[in-house]
Amino acid sequence: MSLEADTVLCRYGEIGLKSTKVRTDMERRLRDNIEALLSDRGVDGTVERRWSRLLVHTDEPDAALDAATDAFGVVSASPAATRPPTLDAIRGALREAAESHPGGSFAVRARRAGPKDAHPFASGDIEREGGRVVGEVSGAPVDLDDPDVTYGVDCRKEEAFVFTETRPGPGGLPLGSQGTAVVLLSGGIDSPVAAWEAMKRGCTIAPVYVDLGDYGGPDHRARAVSVGCRLARYAPNYDAVLRVVPAGDLVGELAAEIGHTRMLSLRRVMLRTAEEVAREVGAHSIVTGESLGQKSSQTGPNLAVTDAAVTLPVHRPLLTRDKTDITDAARRIGTFDDSTLPVGCERVAPTHPETNATLSAVEAAEPADLFERAAALAAEAETVDLHELRRQSAPIAGGE
Ligand code: ATP
Ligand code: MG
Repeated sequence: MSLEADTVLCRYGEIGLKSTKVRTDMERRLRDNIEALLSDRGVDGTVERRWSRLLVHTDEPDAALDAATDAFGVVSASPAATRPPTLDAIRGALREAAESHPGGSFAVRARRAGPKDAHPFASGDIEREGGRVVGEVSGAPVDLDDPDVTYGVDCRKEEAFVFTETRPGPGGLPLGSQGTAVVLLSGGIDSPVAAWEAMKRGCTIAPVYVDLGDYGGPDHRARAVSVGCRLARYAPNYDAVLRVVPAGDLVGELAAEIGHTRMLSLRRVMLRTAEEVAREVGAHSIVTGESLGQKSSQTGPNLAVTDAAVTLPVHRPLLTRDKTDITDAARRIGTFDDSTLPVGCERVAPTHPETNATLSAVEAAEPADLFERAAALAAEAETVDLHELRRQSAPIAGGE
């Protein structure tokens, strides 16, 4: 028999450092977010705020663990069995758990919290007694430094939780606690990871895809929509509306009329449309997937020139990250497959792109009304409700 979990213990980090008021607000938000993730995935469970933990009471601990570790703000989570807070009951639970010991060494780690007189034993007693029982049942050796299996006991005044698995969550802050950012979402590998990073720090996102016409095409757009759905899955209780900005004609003109600074003007158009959307939705910043030196448009001087197109701050969570690291992250968060759907499109980049641009040279090559036109395009954007789309085609767009 193995130990059956009835609860998922969710731990958070930075939230615990906040003032009482902020912390209470964030804990509540995190509770609501976890409940929304459970309900979106059809997982039975209720979430309770208790001491410095959130407890998911559930009959489906595996699925609840998946959902809880997708909640921004959760540092780690463990499916746990609840027992009375006595040494006898804890020993019994550890015995049950040890019956399905997978092999290798083990350690028992216990935490006891609550009033001093709540328990007639200390955490050291739980570890010693527990270690003895697990050793007896499993025949496995103890290794306190680097155990293969850790048996955890979290003993509180009213109950004790016993667990053998601790899975990391994303960490960060609860989604929705840091306002909204517009994300320039191309659907490639980088921008979804950048979006996820902003979400991890608590920002809800308003994604914008700039449709480049012949230089983008329907596959490109489908990829951005697919990736958007994947991200929306992390945010079921917040708006997830992708704006598709029809920039094909303008891009065609830029490609025909501007030489080696063309890409920079295109980036400036993208930022300007994002800024318009930010005004509309009340966002405080723009997020892109740019990384220093990744492409000619992403050199230090060129990023300075693109930023001059807008007054809102442009955040680049991936600025210092290598492509391999970003690709690993894309796989972890589940956007990689959508991001690498094949797309056929013409190349907008010139053969010899500028890498050390000055603002005056870029401006001199641009049509005078470039920004007005970019703003007008943002107003014409088509909106795609990603949650609606997920509901219509759950297994393809945004399902497991
Ligand atoms: P990604 O960076 O998402 O993998 P990419 O590498 O094809 O896509 P880059 O040329 O590196 O795109 O673009 C840098 C950033 O500019 C992207 O991360 C994204 O934030 C933004 N961007 C590029 N193309 C588009 C687009 N068509 N619509 C919206 N944003 C875009
Ligand atoms: Mg890129």
